[in-house]
Amino acid sequence: MTIDVAILGATGMVGQRFVQLLQGHPVFRVAELCASERSVGKRYEEAAAWRLPGENPLADQVVLPCDPSAVRSSVVFSALDSAAARTVEPAFAAAGFAVLTNAAPFRMAEGVPLLIPEVNPEHAEWVRGKNGFIMANPNCTHQAMTIALAPLHRRWGVEAVCVASYQAVSGAGYPGESAWDMIGNVHPHPGDEEEKVASEPRKILDAPDLRISARCVRVPVPDGHLVAVQAKLRTEPPLDELRAAMAAFVGPYALPSSPRPLIRVLEQRDRPTPKLDADRGNGMAVTVSRVERCEVFTVKFFALAHNAIRGAAGGAIANAELLVEKGIL
Ligand code: NAP
Repeated sequence: MTIDVAILGATGMVGQRFVQLLQGHPVFRVAELCASERSVGKRYEEAAAWRLPGENPLADQVVLPCDPSAVRSSVVFSALDSAAARTVEPAFAAAGFAVLTNAAPFRMAEGVPLLIPEVNPEHAEWVRGKNGFIMANPNCTHQAMTIALAPLHRRWGVEAVCVASYQAVSGAGYPGESAWDMIGNVHPHPGDEEEKVASEPRKILDAPDLRISARCVRVPVPDGHLVAVQAKLRTEPPLDELRAAMAAFVGPYALPSSPRPLIRVLEQRDRPTPKLDADRGNGMAVTVSRVERCEVFTVKFFALAHNAIRGAAGGAIANAELLVEKGIL
C-alpha cells in the first residue's frame, strides 16, 4: 500500500526533514510540497536552500499553496509555523484531510490526540471514523523526558518533575535565533517553551496532577535537545530497576520509524551528548544516562533526543504509521 502525502511548510527546517525522512518510506510517498505565497510557483530548490546533508531529492518539484483545494493527497504533514498553522490546519481538517502536525496551536485542544506512538497510542482512537482531523506531536524539548518517564510513571507513579533544557539551534527553525545570541553564548528561551514542557506531558501521560517546573535554554549546538530531569516518584525503587524499566520500554506496535531499543540507557558519566547521541536510532531513539539518586526528589537523569527528527518530522511520521497500523488511515 502506498499513501500519497503533502507537506505543508515544506521549505522550513522541519519540512525539509519530512522530505528527507520520507524518501524510500515503505508506505508514504511525498506527492506535494506546499509553503507560503513567497514560495508558491517556484521549484523547491529555488524556494528554499536545502539545509540538510546530501542532495535535495525533490529539487524540481513546484511548490503549491497551503490551500486544501490545491492538494490531492488525503494526508498532510504540517511543518507550518504557529501563526500559519492556526488557520491553515483547521481548513484542511474541515476539508476532510488527516492533518499530522508539529505546530503548537492545537496540541492541548480537546479531542486532538497529542501523540507519542510508543507512549499513548490509545489516544489515536479519538480520531477513528472522523472525516478530517488534526493529530499533533509534542513539543520537541520534553520528548526525551516524557518517553523516559513513561515506564516509570506506569510502574511507580511520577508526582513531580523539575527539568532544565539545553536546546539546539535548529529547534528555532531557519534562520532561527540570531548569531549574536547564539555564538559563544547560552540563551534562556524567551518564548513560551517552559509552559509547553510543563503542560503537554500531563496530557500524554494521562497525569493531570503531575507538577512540572521547567527552565529552557538554547545552546550553540546544531541538533539534539538535552534535558536534565529530577523526578519525584511515589516510592523509591532501586536505581537498577529504574534503569531496567527504561531500557526495556518499547511501544506495543512495531512501526517502521520506531527503533528498538527505544531508550538506550548508558553507563558513561559524560553522556549523552548531542554530538554522539542525537542520531541514535536514525534520530528516533532516546539516550539516557546518569540515572542517580536525587537528594531532593527520587531520581535524576539526563535524556537526549533529536529535536527535528524524534521531536518533529520523524515523530509525526511515526504517528501516521500508527494510524496505518491501527487501520485508521
Ligand atoms: P521554519 O524553518 O521557520 O519553517 C516554517 C515554514 O512555514 C516554512 O515552510 C514557511 O514557508 C511556512 N510558512 C510560514 N508562514 C506561512 C504562511 N502564512 N502560509 C503558508 N506557509 C507558511 O520553522 P521549523 O523549524 O521548520 O518549524 C515548523 C513548525 O514545527 C513550527 O510550528 C515549529 O514550532 C514546529 N517544531 C519545530 C521543531 C524543530 O526542531 N525545528 C521541533 C518541533 C516542532 P516559506 O518558506 O514559504 O515562508
